[in-house]
Amino acid sequence: MAIAEEECDYLFKAVLVGDSAVGKSNLLSRIARGEFRLDSKPTIGVEFAYRDVRVGGSLVKAQIWDTAGQERFRAITSSYYRGALGALLVYDITRQSTFSNSVKWLKEMRELGTDDMVIMLIGNKIDRHHMRQVSEDEGRSLAEQEGLYFMETSALENRNVEEAFVQMVTRIHEITT
Ligand code: GDP
Ligand code: MG
Repeated sequence: MAIAEEECDYLFKAVLVGDSAVGKSNLLSRIARGEFRLDSKPTIGVEFAYRDVRVGGSLVKAQIWDTAGQERFRAITSSYYRGALGALLVYDITRQSTFSNSVKWLKEMRELGTDDMVIMLIGNKIDRHHMRQVSEDEGRSLAEQEGLYFMETSALENRNVEEAFVQMVTRIHEITT
């Protein structure tokens, strides 16, 4: 159910980050579910959707930003990250290059984003396990090394997507209250 902004206890911004075609937009549709409202902002090439969630007795409205393809050119601007309290850093478990690039995205995020941004590293497309190039252990180790949360998901089969999102929101809520 959508909650009007004034009935919300908190409103915060989160961003989707990662290489092209890793599944960011599909994860966003899953997270936003029936409430998927794509408010396009063509001037800055950013789209976002809202998702309401109840956490620790509070009503939280997450505004989740998605790119409109400019990650392909590594052309994400600082306004994309500005004020974001959370990030879903996504790679594709069937493409090693998207995993190695997540280190580059992380660097950019840390330069341009909020200091204590809650970052969830996500290995997506686990439904394609027969094509796997990045093991779960590799993902988990990187996350531990970099102080990130970690989860493997399938946007296609809707596995762990809600869990990943709720974990990020819960952590942000803990930090900001
Ligand atoms: P984005 O460029 O990161 O926003 O990626 P998209 O969400 O547009 O997805 C890129 C491609 O990957 C599309 O063809 C999707 O159908 C596919 N895709 C996204 N998530 C999954 C997933 O969990 N499993 C599989 N098998 N395909 C996926
Ligand atoms: Mg996309």
